[in-house]
Amino acid sequence: MRSAIQQRPGALRPGSADGKSVRRTPADNGVKNVRGSGTTAFVLSGGGSLGAVQVGVLQALWDNGVRPDLLIGTSVGAVNAAHVAGHGFTEDGLADLARIWTGLRRSDVFPLHPVRALSAVGGWAPSLVSDAGLRGLLHRHLTFAELGAAPLEMRVVATDLVSGRGVVLGEGDALSAVMASAAIPALFPPVVREGRCLVDGGLADHGEVLASLSEEVDDIYVLPAGFACALAVPPRSPLGVAAQALTILIQQRLVAAVEHYDGHAHLHVVPGLCPLRVSAVDFSHSSALIARAHATTRRWLERGAADVEDPARFLSLHDHRSTSPGSVVHPLRAAR
Ligand SMILES: [Zn+2]
Repeated sequence: MRSAIQQRPGALRPGSADGKSVRRTPADNGVKNVRGSGTTAFVLSGGGSLGAVQVGVLQALWDNGVRPDLLIGTSVGAVNAAHVAGHGFTEDGLADLARIWTGLRRSDVFPLHPVRALSAVGGWAPSLVSDAGLRGLLHRHLTFAELGAAPLEMRVVATDLVSGRGVVLGEGDALSAVMASAAIPALFPPVVREGRCLVDGGLADHGEVLASLSEEVDDIYVLPAGFACALAVPPRSPLGVAAQALTILIQQRLVAAVEHYDGHAHLHVVPGLCPLRVSAVDFSHSSALIARAHATTRRWLERGAADVEDPARFLSLHDHRSTSPGSVVHPLRAAR
């Protein structure tokens, strides 16, 4: 069966002396694409403002000596991965990332302007929201222009808007790759890259990503941003509804990918936060999300949960309404 991943993740890199692409080798980047050598990949999924959760998870992994050789980022996970890849997986680098998150406001990422929205509805603007804020954020904090030049190897997952297939980008312009990965359909404009129209990687089949990755590394840590499973009331604004819908879709994609995973590498799915009452467009709780994720992940690691089988147990779709027939006790809560 033909792979849904159109570009073999990062297997080829530009920049050889003769102008031809060269295969990334252990000698030139420190990543050993040979299983059995103890290599580790972190997979950071999307989730809007809930991407702050991943900062706390990364801090806990750092505290416990878990280090990535490779980062795979999708949507806000690509934004976080780009910072770590450029500034390094260090205590100071993660503290800097936490500072950026705690200073963000919704308008920095999702600036809402009626004229822009009306223009989009009329077909005169490519999206309901301008991506200038996110672009500026990346301009300020990206330390490398080309993905292949990242000090710590990283790849970015986007989705081909025409074919629906996942596209894993491991080389070329870094900023446009991250922008493509984070291009929430209709909210942000698609990114045209190498003849393809790319949107948010959260739509892509992550099963293919994990299967491909498992051929290269020994351990894969999946860092979900999660979804708001315990909102007091459903989101009402179009932005809030779109973000909640996308995070649920991402969670569904992750559940399917993890449940059907049968790769060689050991898969560790880090527990998300549950119950979670923060909308994916609410940036005012980043500090609390980081601290809570840090503590939750640290407890999970200290209990040796990273070595327990059945990694999908943290990913169920659920809510916390006692009267809802769909309510479930989340396995993470049950385990406490
Ligand atoms: Zn929950």
